[in-house]
Amino acid sequence: MRAMTVIPGRPDSAELTERAEPERQDGELLVEPVYLGVCGTDREILDGAHGEPPPGEERLVLGHELLGRVKEGDGGFETGQLVAGIVRRPDPVPCACCAKGEWDMCRNGLYTERGIKQLDGYGAELVTIEEDFAIPVPDDLGTLGVLTEPSSILAKAWEQIDRIATRACSVHERVLVTGAGPIGLLAALMGSQRGLEVHVLDRATEGVKPEVVHALGAEYHTGDIAEVAQAFEPDVVVECTGVAELVAGAMQHTAPGAIVCLTGVAPSRNLSVDIGGLNNELVLENDVVFGSVNANRRHFEQAVEALRAADKDWLRRLITRTVPFDSWQQAIEKGDDDIKVVVEFPAR
Ligand code: BGC
Repeated sequence: MRAMTVIPGRPDSAELTERAEPERQDGELLVEPVYLGVCGTDREILDGAHGEPPPGEERLVLGHELLGRVKEGDGGFETGQLVAGIVRRPDPVPCACCAKGEWDMCRNGLYTERGIKQLDGYGAELVTIEEDFAIPVPDDLGTLGVLTEPSSILAKAWEQIDRIATRACSVHERVLVTGAGPIGLLAALMGSQRGLEVHVLDRATEGVKPEVVHALGAEYHTGDIAEVAQAFEPDVVVECTGVAELVAGAMQHTAPGAIVCLTGVAPSRNLSVDIGGLNNELVLENDVVFGSVNANRRHFEQAVEALRAADKDWLRRLITRTVPFDSWQQAIEKGDDDIKVVVEFPAR
C-alpha cells in the first residue's frame, strides 16, 4: 500500500512511499481512509519546521484529520461504519491529566500525536486505530465528517471558554473571531450555535470567506483589529491565526471581564508591545487570556454533535478543494480562496 510520507526537518521531502499493510491487533480497527483534511500543521511539517518520526524511523506518515470506513474490527464497530481518528495519545507515565483521559492537557509533553509527533498518521491506504481512539461518525454527516478533527479543536476551546465564563456574573454576548480559515469559521459556527453575536475579522476582502460568514448571520470585518474591536467591544475573542499583531490586538480593546482564547501558532516574531499597559488593562478589567490546543474524546463527540446541528450546505462550502491521493502534495499548496483542502482516497 502507499502512504503520504515526509522526513520531518527536511523541506521538500514529501512523497508517496510503498509500505507494508498494517496488521490489526486485538482492540484495534482496520480502517480505509476516505478523506483526509490538510491543515497548517501539515504545511509546517512539510516545510521542515515541525513533526517527529516514530522512534527509529526516518519518515513520518502524515495526516491527522481522518474520515475513514471500518474494514475490520469489533468493539461495537460495524464494517462500513464511518469513523474519525483521535490525534493525540496519552503520555506513558501518565501525568495527572493523561491518566484521566484529558491528554489534550498533558502536563509533561511526553504525549504522542498521529501524523505529527512520533506516531505515523492516517495518510495511507489502510490504517489501524485503537477502538478507544476511533469516533463513530453518523451516516447523516457523510463525507462532512472529515471536519470532525478540526471541529474538535474548537469544541475544546469553546468548552474551556464556557467553563471560564461561569467564574462570575459576566454575561458573554459578543464574540470576535480572528481569521476566517477553517478554525476561525468553525469557531464562528460554534459561537453562533451558542446564540452569540459573532464577528469575524480576516484579510480577505471578497470571495467565499465573507460569504460564509454572512450566511452564518455573522458580521465580517477587514482592517485594523483595534478599530474593529473598539466598535463593539467583544467579551469573547477566539484568536485563530497566531499572527503577532492579532494576538496583541486580541488581548486589548475587549469588554471588561473578557475571555480571550488563543488557538493559533505561527513562526515566532518580535513585536513591540507595552506589557505594563496591557497588564493594567487585564488586571483592571478582570480579563482572562488562555491558550488552547488539541482535543480529547469528549471534544470529538461534541464536534460530531456541532457538525450535525449545522447547516450541511454551509459546511460543504468550507471544503473548497478536493485533491486525489495520487497527487496529495497539491493539497499542501494553499490558494488564496482555499478554506479546507481535503485529500480523497481511491475506492478500494
Ligand atoms: C492538531 C492538534 C495538535 C496540534 C499540535 C493541530 O494541527 O489539530 O491535534 O495537538 O496541531 O501538534
